[in-house]
Amino acid sequence: MPAEAANPAQRIAELELQVKILTHLLQVTKTLNSALLSASLRVEALLDYIMDAAAEITDAESASVLLWRTTTQQLFFAATTTKSEESRALIGKTIPSESIAGTIFREARTVIVDDVHQDPRHYSRVDEDIQFVTRSLMGVPMISKNRTIGVLEVVNRRQGTWTEQDEQHLKVLAEEAAVAIEVAQLVVALQKANNDLSELDKLKNDFIAIAAHELRTPLGVILGYASFLQDEATSPEYGELAAKVMNSALQLRRIIEDMVNLRYLKQKEAELERDAVPLKTLLQDMKYEATTLLDASRHKLVLEPPPDEVRVQVDRLRVVMALNNLMNNATRFTPPGGTITVTWQVQGDEAWIIIQDTGIGIQKGDLEKIFEEFYQVEDHMTRTHGGLGIGLSIARALVHAHGGRIWGESPGLNQGSTFNLTLPLAK
Ligand code: ADP
Repeated sequence: MPAEAANPAQRIAELELQVKILTHLLQVTKTLNSALLSASLRVEALLDYIMDAAAEITDAESASVLLWRTTTQQLFFAATTTKSEESRALIGKTIPSESIAGTIFREARTVIVDDVHQDPRHYSRVDEDIQFVTRSLMGVPMISKNRTIGVLEVVNRRQGTWTEQDEQHLKVLAEEAAVAIEVAQLVVALQKANNDLSELDKLKNDFIAIAAHELRTPLGVILGYASFLQDEATSPEYGELAAKVMNSALQLRRIIEDMVNLRYLKQKEAELERDAVPLKTLLQDMKYEATTLLDASRHKLVLEPPPDEVRVQVDRLRVVMALNNLMNNATRFTPPGGTITVTWQVQGDEAWIIIQDTGIGIQKGDLEKIFEEFYQVEDHMTRTHGGLGIGLSIARALVHAHGGRIWGESPGLNQGSTFNLTLPLAK
């Protein structure tokens, strides 16, 4: 006669216990899943939680997690529920591969020992160290993606011997634990890699800032004297020589600016310092910054300033940086004596700034590519214009951070180029 028919009350009690255990297992799964999704994942906390659950579900006195350290090829105690001072000293201790835990790990299978004193593999040093008496033990391998990463052990069943159900439950926990631990370890590794990377990035930024500062001072002197020589030249020949020095120094200055501004390629919207700024102010700033360039290349700038009430919601410094990059290109890619025309319009809730030059123009196929990082139409080895190829990428990143758009137009080679930039109007 089946057991349930013989004693329904006992069967009901068994089923109730089973439901309680399954509910607990489900709760563990949920908790582990939400821990994996949260950024505050700590391996130690995760292990403590899993061991408490393992001991409770299998009616054991304590539980331990042993993990495999790949660097030393050894199993070590990563955590244990036995909360005494001595047991804390156990954490980090290694255990020989011929021990019971070692067997579970090597053979990737469950081992159940109802009386450890009958098992020669029992490693009694641990008991001595923490003054604990191990009577019985059950351990299962922790497997993640076909790789055994450790062992989950429960020790001293409070009543009776280990059951098949105990094994099943422990296996479920070990499976969950293995995945959770691996993810937690990956998160820690990722955080470390991220920290290393930001340190390196800071080092790079500091280096660029210092190098740029050191370069700017002598460059300022060169620019000053070249400009003076150009103005005071006693013959057109000397004037041209001074102009050459001036243009090369300006080219150097632009490269330094590009290097310093490299970080704005990743400009975040949240980091902008926005204000309602008159469009007129932005265009005045742009004109002021471009004066030396325009003088050096003898370009004519046509600019009709907008009325004060046209205002845009922008980070003034960042927008002027984008406009400068466009002006810089307009002067460099337009032969001396050309004209650069800056106009503006209000379209819906946007202000448009349009910078048009009479320069070398751009072929249709290149109009989008020129906004890619380090893309330059001219071949790198034979180019005559200099530059790093990131001015437009930075301009686009800055304009996009404002929620605006930026694009180029050109009827074709040697027919000039037009760059359009849109910005949100201030409410
Ligand atoms: P860089 O000017 O340092 O090369 P940019 O990102 O500012 O880098 O520009 C990318 C390329 O786009 C330039 O090398 C040039 O080939 C083309 N370009 C940009 N502006 C103009 C322009 N106003 N006229 C013609 N070509 C331009």
